[in-house]
Amino acid sequence: MKAILVRQFGGPEVLKVEEVPTPKPGAGQVLVRVHAAGVNPYDTYMRSGTYAIKPPLPYTPGSDAAGTVEAVGSGISKVKPGDRVYTARTESGAYAEYALALEGQVHALPEKISFAQGAGVWVPYGTAYFALFHSAQARASETVLVHGASGGVGTAAVQIARAMGMRVFGTAGTDKGLDLVKREGAHQVFNHTKAGYAEEILKATGGRGVDVILEMLANVNLATDTKLLAISGRVIVIGNRGEITINPRELMARRASVRGFTLWATTEAESADIYAGIGAGLENGTMRPIVGKELPLAEAPRAHKEILEPGAAGKIVLVP
Ligand code: NAP
Repeated sequence: MKAILVRQFGGPEVLKVEEVPTPKPGAGQVLVRVHAAGVNPYDTYMRSGTYAIKPPLPYTPGSDAAGTVEAVGSGISKVKPGDRVYTARTESGAYAEYALALEGQVHALPEKISFAQGAGVWVPYGTAYFALFHSAQARASETVLVHGASGGVGTAAVQIARAMGMRVFGTAGTDKGLDLVKREGAHQVFNHTKAGYAEEILKATGGRGVDVILEMLANVNLATDTKLLAISGRVIVIGNRGEITINPRELMARRASVRGFTLWATTEAESADIYAGIGAGLENGTMRPIVGKELPLAEAPRAHKEILEPGAAGKIVLVP
């Protein structure tokens, strides 16, 4: 089969298509024919060798695949060959024609969700779901600011928050992104590249502040976020690419809190909750993954470059 292999950590150019043996599912394993693989920002951090998780080399990147079950090993009862599935992590990597996964890593993909959409399920929706329901303990009567709403996690968060009844604000950096965020359910949108947009957000709450902020770029925004919170407000740090100074007094005055989050650290029970929530959301149409761009597998280097550039509009997916 064809797969992307990383033989040394480095820039996007280290992502090379190679011919490798198609894996065989052992006991408790499922072989998935990958029809689309989602590209997530963490894939780029891992590839560069600077991420907290450093896989042994060589490795095939990617946790988010969508496709059909090709074969199953002994002891598998959850899925059978031909079933449509998405993966939440894999054993062998998603950027390939086939991926090996454990039984607990494959989940049903409803007919109405395309494979390209399925490649945008696990990391974006798992993150948005957990951040809203577990980390923020968000309630329907509250206001949420999705700070960075035009990308994978942001569009997922906007859809979920709107469906649960929250008042939803979202930011993006381009007109295309702002249109997308509005279309996916934000009541009001703001351009995070425009001077004074934070004051506009505060004004839109009548000066009260927002209850929850889902933050995609904390090293840029956290100090501002602390000033946008209502009493008992919560900032959930989802994305961060550096350091920042904040004034804790802003939190004290509001009895507010900042919570960090990483999808890798979710427990089995929390993950079960996420899978159940995602299953229902995909089925009932409240979760509709947005595919911004589909690229052939060989263009993985381009995908890794573009995912870090401004102008997000949903997910970038690779098609093997
Ligand atoms: P993505 O699809 O590349 O989207 C990036 C988002 O950040 C876009 O909405 C982009 O908006 C926005 N952004 C750019 N500049 C911004 C600014 N100054 N202020 C606010 N937002 C800004 O990435 P993603 O998959 O949604 O992930 C978002 C971040 O969360 C990444 O850093 C990722 O590594 C992280 N993440 C963490 C976890 C975790 O477990 N903690 C899980 C998933 C993702 P424009 O392009 O429109 O400017």
